[in-house]
Amino acid sequence: MKEFEGQVAVVTGGARGIGAEIARRFAGGGAKVVCADVLDTTEIVDEINESGGTAEGRELDVTDFVAAAESIAAIHVAHGRIDILVNNAGITRDQLLVRMKPEDWDLVLGINLDGVFKVTQPVAKLMMRARGGRIVNVASVVGLMGNAGQANYAASKAGLIGFTKSLARELGPRNVTVNAVAPGYIQTPMTDKLTDDQREALMKTVAIPRLGTPTDVADAVAFLAGPGASYITGVVLNISGGLYI
Ligand code: NDP
Repeated sequence: MKEFEGQVAVVTGGARGIGAEIARRFAGGGAKVVCADVLDTTEIVDEINESGGTAEGRELDVTDFVAAAESIAAIHVAHGRIDILVNNAGITRDQLLVRMKPEDWDLVLGINLDGVFKVTQPVAKLMMRARGGRIVNVASVVGLMGNAGQANYAASKAGLIGFTKSLARELGPRNVTVNAVAPGYIQTPMTDKLTDDQREALMKTVAIPRLGTPTDVADAVAFLAGPGASYITGVVLNISGGLYI
């Protein structure tokens, strides 16, 4: 039997990037995967279903408290359970603090931190009632180290880490674990744009001299959601090749 057989996993921001890779990983492990995103999820959902997995798309804007709760309720009604929630939706709006527009502060905090509260609250209620579940939050090493030009993003991810640790304490007695992963430099369209010089400079900051891959992140998320991590809660697992030690 596969490790996630019979389970339902919800991945926010699951249309593309790291979220899509997490969805592939859970589907490969036998879970039914719900890719929840503001973007169209047809591509990843079709890909998973055509390769023998089970996936569906669900429109979900993490900034809308009422709509998020309705989406979670609909997923629960359709499948009768939600075993795994991955809070992956996240954005950046980088700027030095002195030049940062208040709307870019609000937007990043609104999606990366407030959005996690809005999606997690209804899911936590269901998991507590079911006496079991796994929540994995996608933070960033920037939430641990800080980064010039990313005060809004770093604050959102540091907040997410505090949220993770608090919720781990609240939900532990109901057999629900809550953990975070903190990726470093991951190969995405964003890092594809780096020049050779930038890439070389970056390699000097990591112990393992390569960029991380979405698969590196998905494997760590799967571990925290899997059977081998039932006594692990409230941790932040760095996937940064030693960028942050
Ligand atoms: P992407 O931009 O590729 O994917 C994020 C997804 O979230 C997009 O589909 C995006 O849609 C969606 N999203 C944005 N806003 C909302 C919303 N309000 N409700 C629901 N979904 C939304 O990002 P990555 O895959 O690179 O990043 C995924 C996570 O990993 C993020 O939390 C990010 O902070 C974190 N991370 C990424 C790193 C990296 O190097 N890439 C490093 C460290 C952490 P849309 O396009 O419409 O915005």
